[in-house]
Amino acid sequence: MNMNSGRSLYDLKFDEVQSLLQEWQEPVFRAKQIWEWLYVQLAPAYDAMTNLPKPLRDRLSAAYPLGRLTPKIDLLSSDGWTRKLLFTLPDGVQIETVLMEYDTRHTVCVSTQAGCAMGCTFCATGQGGFQRNLASGEIVEQVLFFDRKLRQTSRQPPTANHHITNVVLMGMGEPFANYTALLDALDRLSDPRGYNFGARRITVSTVGLVPMIERFAQERSQVNLAVSLHAATNELRSAMLPINKRYPLEALIPACRAYLTSTHRRLSFEWAMIEGVNDTPAQARALAQLIKGLLCHVNLIPLNPTHGYAGAASTRERIATFRAILDEAHIANSLRVRRGIDIHAGCGQLQQAAASAG
Ligand code: SAH
Ligand code: SF4
Repeated sequence: MNMNSGRSLYDLKFDEVQSLLQEWQEPVFRAKQIWEWLYVQLAPAYDAMTNLPKPLRDRLSAAYPLGRLTPKIDLLSSDGWTRKLLFTLPDGVQIETVLMEYDTRHTVCVSTQAGCAMGCTFCATGQGGFQRNLASGEIVEQVLFFDRKLRQTSRQPPTANHHITNVVLMGMGEPFANYTALLDALDRLSDPRGYNFGARRITVSTVGLVPMIERFAQERSQVNLAVSLHAATNELRSAMLPINKRYPLEALIPACRAYLTSTHRRLSFEWAMIEGVNDTPAQARALAQLIKGLLCHVNLIPLNPTHGYAGAASTRERIATFRAILDEAHIANSLRVRRGIDIHAGCGQLQQAAASAG
């Protein structure tokens, strides 16, 4: 008998599906069929896999559940552009995933961990602490869930995309603290035999785990990287992001430089604008100095409110002054549009609805 391994079918690599079928003395071509059901047809259940013999479907379903995410709360922002899903996993852990619509783009913001151990002071996920790493299948499934939903709700084809166009790993957790599952998930998403999602439409955001930035540059150079900077001096950055004590700016910036040299890509720096904390002209000048000459773009994000942090978002005037200093230094920058704040779906707000819903 097959014992349930605790893994879902989405956790398996293609080769693993092949060896499983071999072990079960099933024809190898079934692996390709299964892969297509999972990642091309986005089959919602084993029953949908009609070209697989029923006994095989039963055996698969006994050994590997198709997925592990159960949608519990589905919230749509008042402007209708942002949707947040809270999922429970079989061990009771909860995660959140956000879908954002811009023009013809559909961006899904995916969690890589339940909670986060990095403890950034202004982030709700960090305030709640760490629960566990997600498995690769749990990361992939978040994307498939929304893609399936988009395809179902699509009416007529016209111009809009009825599928996911961008994936950002910027939900709950620090992706580089769950490195192996992250890489497996990225590979599964971009596998040409299956989901075939372009690596260049995927962005991973890290708090700045230096050794992993170095590895990532070598191992997945086509995927975009964003680094959460938020402060341009060690004193301030360490106060906001405790990880800076371990990997201070004099380690982080050279790692970013090395990343750019080896990948020939552009890098994004994220900067939450916090009134009177990191939005001063002095910080803007220090930032310009710090990243001068790097092929990069600074993403400014007005701070989103969280329960455990008293700071406020910078005013428009302060943001304008800050940006003028960057512009003067020829540092490319943009202000991210705030979306989904009413449903706590903004950057750094995940796991707030769960907390406030009790
Ligand atoms: N752990 C990764 C990715 C998830 S956080 C990281 O830290 O990069 C996604 C982004 O939201 C990060 O840039 C993070 O610094 C930012 N962020 C966290 N809390 C925020 C808040 N309250 N307001 C605005 N941005 C926030
Ligand atoms: Fe973790 Fe990123 Fe939040 Fe920091 S900002 S606590 S690294 S999720």
